[in-house]
Amino acid sequence: MGNKVLILGGGISGLAASIYLASKGFDVELFEKNEKFGGKANELVSNSFRFDTGPSLITMPFVIDELFQSVNKNLSDFLKINRLEILCKYFFSDGSEFIAYSNKEKLLAEFENFSNVSQKKFEQYLSSTKRIYDLTADIFLINPIHELKILFNKKSFRTLLHLNELQLFKTMHEMNQSFFENKKLIQLFDRYATYVGSDPHQTPATFNIIQHVEYNLGGFTIDGGIYNLVRALEKLAVEVGVKLHKNSKVEKIFVNNKRVKGILVNGNEIESNIVLSAMDVLYTYSLMDKVNSREYNRYKKLELSSSALVFYWGVKINSESLTMHNIIFSNDYRKEFQQIFRDKVIPDDPTIYIYISSKHNMNDAPENHENWFVMINVPSKIELFREIEISNKIKENLIKKIANVVGIDISDKIVFEEILDPRKINFLTSSVEGALYGPASHSILSIFFRQRNKSSSISGLYFCGGTAHPGGGIALVILSAKIASELIAKSQK
Ligand SMILES: Cc1cc2nc3c(=O)[nH]c(=O)nc-3n(C[C@H](O)[C@H](O)[C@H](O)COP(=O)(O)OP(=O)(O)OC[C@H]3O[C@@H](n4cnc5c(N)ncnc54)[C@H](O)[C@@H]3O)c2cc1C
Repeated sequence: MGNKVLILGGGISGLAASIYLASKGFDVELFEKNEKFGGKANELVSNSFRFDTGPSLITMPFVIDELFQSVNKNLSDFLKINRLEILCKYFFSDGSEFIAYSNKEKLLAEFENFSNVSQKKFEQYLSSTKRIYDLTADIFLINPIHELKILFNKKSFRTLLHLNELQLFKTMHEMNQSFFENKKLIQLFDRYATYVGSDPHQTPATFNIIQHVEYNLGGFTIDGGIYNLVRALEKLAVEVGVKLHKNSKVEKIFVNNKRVKGILVNGNEIESNIVLSAMDVLYTYSLMDKVNSREYNRYKKLELSSSALVFYWGVKINSESLTMHNIIFSNDYRKEFQQIFRDKVIPDDPTIYIYISSKHNMNDAPENHENWFVMINVPSKIELFREIEISNKIKENLIKKIANVVGIDISDKIVFEEILDPRKINFLTSSVEGALYGPASHSILSIFFRQRNKSSSISGLYFCGGTAHPGGGIALVILSAKIASELIAKSQK
């Protein structure tokens, strides 16, 4: 085909799209502003500690596999992906604990012990989340939902016949509440809204498919760390002929008569009538002159998803009671989300996520030490983090809470520290206000109003990545790269 495609942004979605497009015969150039690829999925190596700075859990690894297969490569020659034995350990403020095992029998037994709810009830719950997945994945995740042909194909019509089962008009919380009375169980399952940076009390129950993805399809890790996925994608992109440019900040996207014409990078104009943005959607629009289209005007009004405050701590400890993924829940979950989304303040009693990759990769921390990635959800509002002291105040609270609930006092055991806050996320990845997933998923319309993968107003402009359809997270951004590259290929036929 020989047509040139310029890809803007070298996060996971940009790299994945470059491979898909090269496999289709396009001449692909990718521009990344930073000196390393990966975007939000990055790595911090310092003082003998190694941290994955962003994503820490892999789901739907078949999506990664499919990407490698598209260029006739074996994923296993590049990466070793392992199923986790324990998905996550949960700590509640009343001192109770719940271990989410991968093994179904152990998981069901743990549920029963924890809540006195019958195993059958859990199986019913998990099969109802599977049912929603089976009905919706094809339309909502795997295909370009905005293409009318897809939306009105036979399979979609069949889905519409089961509209009541899609749980479009209940929230995640309401559906969880309809299954369980136990407040802690509801909190546990409500938590999955945070995988799309959203509030379970506002997010449609359709998103309870995330539980199916994690409990039925499994949670995974990568040998050597999640960043090895980025290394593998970079290597593969080079092998299939993609021209990768680091330290290449895109400063402008040229549009003339509603047609994309090229870009400005490091002061050089590069022409192309196909441009695929794998950067934040709102930021992408800011690089064009006078955008005033319906899709943009609709998109810019959407509420943003949450952001994160992450402490990367090197800790002199061997924490036996923690596993690789741990959650310490807040006392009042509803209030926590109201503070994040309604009041736009940092929650006073945040749920704490602790990811310790050195539990699996021994080399990630020196002997008798661990690498703690300690994260809380915060509003996407850079202004809140103008003052450095704010993180120190939060740090004190987190250390106290970890000591109180888990019984581990690390106050004099932190030997290394780095902090990532919304301001820094914005600076490093151009994510508007540091939002992790672009728009929040607070209504069913937000699925349709997410940026479509092929612009409806600017010819030749395409989008992929966590802020476009179908959404954020490693698997979904690879799917978005696949959808966008298929749309580009189709437009050239
Ligand atoms: C703290 C944290 C925890 C997370 N946890 C998980 C998890 O456990 N599991 C999961 O699946 N997902 C998780 N995510 C989400 C996941 O990381 C993202 O959805 C995914 O990595 C987004 O990839 P992307 O390619 O769409 O965007 P990005 O990673 O944001 O990539 C955009 C790229 O564009 C580049 N760029 C920006 N401006 C320019 C410019 N002007 N010129 C050139 N390049 C530019 C950026 O530098 C960046 O490399 C997490 C994210 C964070 C931050």
